[in-house]
Formats: sequence, C-alpha cells, structure tokens
Amino acid sequence: MRKTNRVVLASTNRHKLEEFLVLFKKYPEIEIVPADEYIKNPEKLSLVETSDHYYDNAIAKARACNQGCHYPSLADDSGLEVDALQGKPGVRSHRYAITKNGQTQDQANNLKLLEELKNVPEGKRTARFICHLAMIIEGVLVHTVGTLEGRIAQNLNGQQGFGYDPLFIPNGYEKTLAELGADLKNKLSHRAKAVDALMEDIKRQDIVLAKP
Ligand code: IMP
Repeated sequence: MRKTNRVVLASTNRHKLEEFLVLFKKYPEIEIVPADEYIKNPEKLSLVETSDHYYDNAIAKARACNQGCHYPSLADDSGLEVDALQGKPGVRSHRYAITKNGQTQDQANNLKLLEELKNVPEGKRTARFICHLAMIIEGVLVHTVGTLEGRIAQNLNGQQGFGYDPLFIPNGYEKTLAELGADLKNKLSHRAKAVDALMEDIKRQDIVLAKP
C-alpha cells in the first residue's frame, strides 16, 4: 500500500529524521521522506536560516524545500533556551560553540554550556527545548510550536539522542534525555508536541489528505 501524502523533511539532520519517522507513525496519512532523496544539495537548505526567530527560519526552510521538489515539505527549527543565560543558546543552538581538537559540534556545544553554567546552582539551571514546525501541504502553510521544560545537569550523562540531550533533564525526571532514551523522549519532547499540534491544525483547517 503506498501512502500519497509524501512530505519531504527539509533537514539533513539524521537524528531529526529518525525522530520524525517515529513521531509520524501514529499519523499513517503522512509519509515523511528525507530531503536528500528529493532535492539537489539539501545541505544548502540551512542557508536560508538567517533570522533570529525560529518561526521565520522554519518557514524559510519549508518554502525552499517545497520550491526545490514540488512535494509537501516539513521543516523544524529548534533550540535550547537556558534561563540563567537569558535564553541562550536559543535560535543559535546548533552553532553555539567553536569546535576544537576534533570535537563534534554537539560535544563542543555541551562543554561550552557546562562552562557557562559552572557557577549556577541546581535550582537556577532551568531551561526548555523549543520546536517550531512549518509544513507546506496542499498549498497551505501550517505552523506549530512545542516546548519541553526541564533543567541542565551538572555533568554529561547518557549516550542516546543528539545535541544537548546528555545535559537536559525533563521536569518530573532525574535523568537526562540521553539516559531516558528514545521511547520516552518521543512521548515528551518539544518535537512530539509540535507534531501533534500540527496534525490537529491540519484536521481543524480541513486540509484534505489522501487516505493511507
Ligand atoms: P536547527 O534547528 O537545525 O537550527 O538546530 C537545532 C539545534 O538545537 C540542534 O543542533 C541541537 O543542538 C539543539 N536541539 C534541538 N532539538 C534538540 C533535541 O531534541 N535534543 C537535543 N538538542 C536539540
């Protein structure tokens, strides 16, 4: 059986792709497919992320992808906001730190965050992940937001996930997302909430989707 609402994910981040594939399993009317199979030079999609607002960046990526492949498209612009750092790294979460000595971008980001928070006590390390999603489908733009509240750990813990997951402890838990693992993260996450809100909006707006 082929699903006809094929939606191209405007991202080259394989971790985001893995999460979206799981998150859309409960919506079989949408089939998420990777940008690299549908558009030329998908790495150039991030060049349109020029704004200081997640909202603008998500929409710009979704538009660029939709124009490049003429399929419906989905873009995510997300980040981590730390209260003690006045919302940083925020919209610049991906390129927060400069990498050195063979570090990956994620390792450099996490070490910089720990350093910046080294004098911040336990109760003041509150933070949230935020995800803005933009989908262009049937010529309509749908935009939603999801957040996940928590705090920044004192040390890196756990091997799963990506980005700041080894430092982020969601409210109600004592372990980081990288320790808690994908099944739980996909129930709680900012991305999961934004996907559920997106599918509700699609239904509310009566956007007619092909049946799976
Ligand atoms: P962008 O949306 O591609 O601009 O980058 C988002 C950046 O925010 C990622 O590279 C991560 O550093 C961070 N981020 C967003 N969502 C998550 C998440 O679910 N876990 C950990 N880090 C995240």
